[in-house]
Amino acid sequence: MEDALKQEAYEANMMLPRFGLVRLTWGNASALDRNRGLLAIKPSGVSYEVLTAADMVLVDLEGQTIGNGLKPSSDTPTHVRLYQAFPEIGGVVHTHSPGATAFAQAGRPVPCYGTTHADYFHGEVPVTRPLTREEVDTEYEWNTGAVIAACHGSRDALGTPGALVHSHGPFTWGRSAASAAEHAAVLETISAMALHSLALNPQLAPVPHYLLDRHFRRKHGRDAYYGQ
Ligand SMILES: [Zn+2]
Repeated sequence: MEDALKQEAYEANMMLPRFGLVRLTWGNASALDRNRGLLAIKPSGVSYEVLTAADMVLVDLEGQTIGNGLKPSSDTPTHVRLYQAFPEIGGVVHTHSPGATAFAQAGRPVPCYGTTHADYFHGEVPVTRPLTREEVDTEYEWNTGAVIAACHGSRDALGTPGALVHSHGPFTWGRSAASAAEHAAVLETISAMALHSLALNPQLAPVPHYLLDRHFRRKHGRDAYYGQ
């Protein structure tokens, strides 16, 4: 039996092509076991067609690889930084899915234009500031995680389970790796919807707070009642 943490990370990684979120090798998912202080993440440069659970690479929270010989995804320091910033989370996903990446490249947050968005993200999906030259030149991936944590600010990590990196693309997270992958799919869908809505009405305003709050709270938190 493969390590359960590797299996969780593998299954989340395989959700990304299934959800139509990645082309080639553009994407990665990780799963964290806080008790063990370890995460499992996709290896660098291995295509989804041949990926196995055994290929997942274990990394500790200082970013040190516990080796199976494969190199962890080059985005690993970003994942580690996010696990440090958000103690509630147990999974992180990164993609270059085109709708969310369009907003990231434009340096614009995704406003909440409807209830699909409000069911999962309590308000806009924020976008980071551009990284400085120094941040790109040294410890780029670590600094990417740091600017995400900074732009997320005082928001609830699970209330806004993702952010856009300026000129780059989306990172999402959740209590588990599967939840982070689900949030990546939701973020892509609401980004595509927002692009279409803006094309139809460039002056469109975000939904009012009473609608945002109603939809978010019926799925999340103490008074949640929405069921599938
Ligand atoms: Zn990327």
